[in-house]
Amino acid sequence: MGAFRIGRIAGIDIRIHWSWFAIFLLLTWWLAHGFFHEVYDDWTLTQEWAAAVITTILFFSSILLHELSHSLMAKRLGLPVTSITLFIFGGVSALGAEPSSARQEFQVAIVGPLTSFLLGGLFGLLALIAWRYDYSGRPPAAIAEYLAIINVAVGVFNMLPGFPLDGGRVLRSALWARSQSMLRATRWAATAGTVISFGLIAAGVVSVLAGSFIGGVWFIVIGWFLRNAAETSYQQLLLRQALEGAKVGAMVNRNFHGAPPDLSLERLVHDHILGQSQRCVPIVVTDDLLGLVTMSDLKRVPPGEWSSTSAFSAMTPREKLYTVSAQDDLTQALEMMATHDIHQLPVMEGRTFLGFVTRADVLRLIQIRTEVGAVGRTS
Ligand SMILES: [Zn+2]
Repeated sequence: MGAFRIGRIAGIDIRIHWSWFAIFLLLTWWLAHGFFHEVYDDWTLTQEWAAAVITTILFFSSILLHELSHSLMAKRLGLPVTSITLFIFGGVSALGAEPSSARQEFQVAIVGPLTSFLLGGLFGLLALIAWRYDYSGRPPAAIAEYLAIINVAVGVFNMLPGFPLDGGRVLRSALWARSQSMLRATRWAATAGTVISFGLIAAGVVSVLAGSFIGGVWFIVIGWFLRNAAETSYQQLLLRQALEGAKVGAMVNRNFHGAPPDLSLERLVHDHILGQSQRCVPIVVTDDLLGLVTMSDLKRVPPGEWSSTSAFSAMTPREKLYTVSAQDDLTQALEMMATHDIHQLPVMEGRTFLGFVTRADVLRLIQIRTEVGAVGRTS
């Protein structure tokens, strides 16, 4: 969502989120107008902007290499990797599964910062060579110096021990190995992440008060982003744990009574929606699902026309519906409902309609499983 593909490396989609353009422009502008302009006052305007553009491109290439190292390591260890997305706060690798052991987690996490340190070292070496040949203070040397420093900074920042930063994942892997409980390790690492995010916000506020506005605001925004990320990833883990192994098939709700396609909307509202308090009526012929009439379909037809409109002409047709099959994981179904903000999904077996999986039913299952789990842990 909000991102598009720019290419594919080693079977991994490389994507750019629209917010990335904001940071690309901001960084280029700040380098040209601020940093290079102030540090190297003998450069021409063209030199300032050319150096700024090249530096920004190389910086984001470095971020991409950092993410690629995570993804390639994950792939090597057999974890599915779907894509890498560059966005306003850098890059993120989308793994199709969580690491299954502390050792795997450690290997996937550590290669990122190592790559950044290695890049920092390489650019440092280039800067040294530039100095040696008397290029000091000229654009090529300045670009290499800046990239050496920024890559080391990226490595250091990512090694902060708060989940979901790389350092937080390293911490989680260590706690995981010790406690043998991924859930407890995640809770601690996420708490460390929250502490660090508040530290960043506090540092940002101090910087703003001390007069460094852009840098300060940036720290506050990053701190805020991290805080949310720490919380969300912990919640997701809880959810995934509660629904582990559960399939859609075990949760099919068959209490929805289908209506024939030629039924008028008036009868449908009276018999199905009011009569049986269904929020959603499947339109079926034998077991073949033609579509659904939901509350929003109903709102599109003025009540005066309900008696003359058939369910068939008001329904959302099957091709436009999100559906799941009985073999799908419940977590997938729940994610689908959350992303598209819908309350129920038709469960299909080929063209045959089995029933619905509803958000309310899944949430009830999570609640029960979490409570049973809590009892199981304390005893
Ligand atoms: Zn990383």
